[in-house]
Amino acid sequence: MVPASIFTELTMANPLLAKRRALLGGAYRLFYEEPLHIVRGRGCYLYDAQGRRYLDAYNNVPHVGHCHPQVVAAISQQAATLNTHTRYLHEHVLDLAEQITDLCADGLAHMLFACSGTEANDLALRLARARTGAEGVIVTESAYHGHSCAVVQLSTEDTPPARRGDHIVTIPAPDSYRRQASGPEQAADLDQALAELERRGHRPAAFFLDTVLSSEGIATVPEGYLPAAVARVRSAGGLFVADEVQAGYGRSGVSFWGHERLGVVPDMITMGKPMGNGHPISGLVTSADVLDAFTRESHYFNTFGGNPVSCAAALAVLAVMRDEQLMARARSTGAWLRAELEGLAAQHEVIGDVRGSGLFLGLDLVQDRSRQTPATDLAAELVNAMRQRGVLLGRTGLHGNVLKIRPPMVFTREDGSLLLEALADSLAA
Ligand code: PMP
Repeated sequence: MVPASIFTELTMANPLLAKRRALLGGAYRLFYEEPLHIVRGRGCYLYDAQGRRYLDAYNNVPHVGHCHPQVVAAISQQAATLNTHTRYLHEHVLDLAEQITDLCADGLAHMLFACSGTEANDLALRLARARTGAEGVIVTESAYHGHSCAVVQLSTEDTPPARRGDHIVTIPAPDSYRRQASGPEQAADLDQALAELERRGHRPAAFFLDTVLSSEGIATVPEGYLPAAVARVRSAGGLFVADEVQAGYGRSGVSFWGHERLGVVPDMITMGKPMGNGHPISGLVTSADVLDAFTRESHYFNTFGGNPVSCAAALAVLAVMRDEQLMARARSTGAWLRAELEGLAAQHEVIGDVRGSGLFLGLDLVQDRSRQTPATDLAAELVNAMRQRGVLLGRTGLHGNVLKIRPPMVFTREDGSLLLEALADSLAA
């Protein structure tokens, strides 16, 4: 119940905001100085309560577009037929596991289902510990892997070192813009991390990496980095978990999973966000070897994970991706957009680097190109200025200075032109 004193606040200019503050407290964050009240979405567009249209160049969860009719129909049909759990036989969960494992490398043939990326990574941690008998984890600085008690410690973006536990060691994110060393040279960071774990009395269970390095600023991984890094972890007995929650599902336009571009077959793949186009479903794919070690000590049950309705949504997403050839479209639209952004960078000194692939692009904003000083305030201003011009995008990275362009996969050149126009105007202003 809302305390009586709070009702006075509800008469403020934005009663929804006041009510939200009163009921949800301070833990949640809103985007924008002037928060948005979105009431409807379709394709790449969102509409606010006043009917104003916004181009969504930020949200990757509505992978095949907001409220795609095929996904909506699949959810409503299945919800009207049956919704139970994985303790009864059902075709949907098997069809989905079959389609997803078919998209993974040979040997990665088992799938477990959950409801969020956090849960998938939490499960990956349990499996890694069961398989290796070890506790240690290596993650990058400024990583995000989720928010459960165990996984938030791997989310170094949010968790200060004192709260991480001594079984967690960080490495600098691989990066070919702010770091000069080659891929194999940067992979030597893993030697130091492994030595540090040993010094603390731990063996490595796993190395987790978001293969698009989203919260690390969409950093470009230098050639040869990941195979050299993973080889070091494996030779010390640890496993490699590819966190594909953001990178997966063809986002790069080049391959279905981010790790494929980086030349490595992981021990586990975790996925989430785009799987159900907004319906909560996530998963983990691994080998018989890893799963069997876990199954010897535990069973797995997740009340909602893998239920028929969620699986119907996820099957519809894969069908739309195939029918509308969304990965190929992301490749060509992304390549065109990136070239246009590079053109803009040639006119604006503040754009220090344009990076990314497919429909996941980053603009590294700098105060000074030669020193690469992050232009954090400018990035914040631009995000707000773009919102005023009807385009939604975000910012990311250790310094919050990287503009993040990560729209639904149905984003077209026409949408891209709108974005470019708004960005050119905002930069000029
Ligand atoms: N891993 C990555 C790379 C993510 O970006 C996120 C969410 N931002 C998660 C894991 C956690 O996913 P969820 O919010 O669904 O728990």
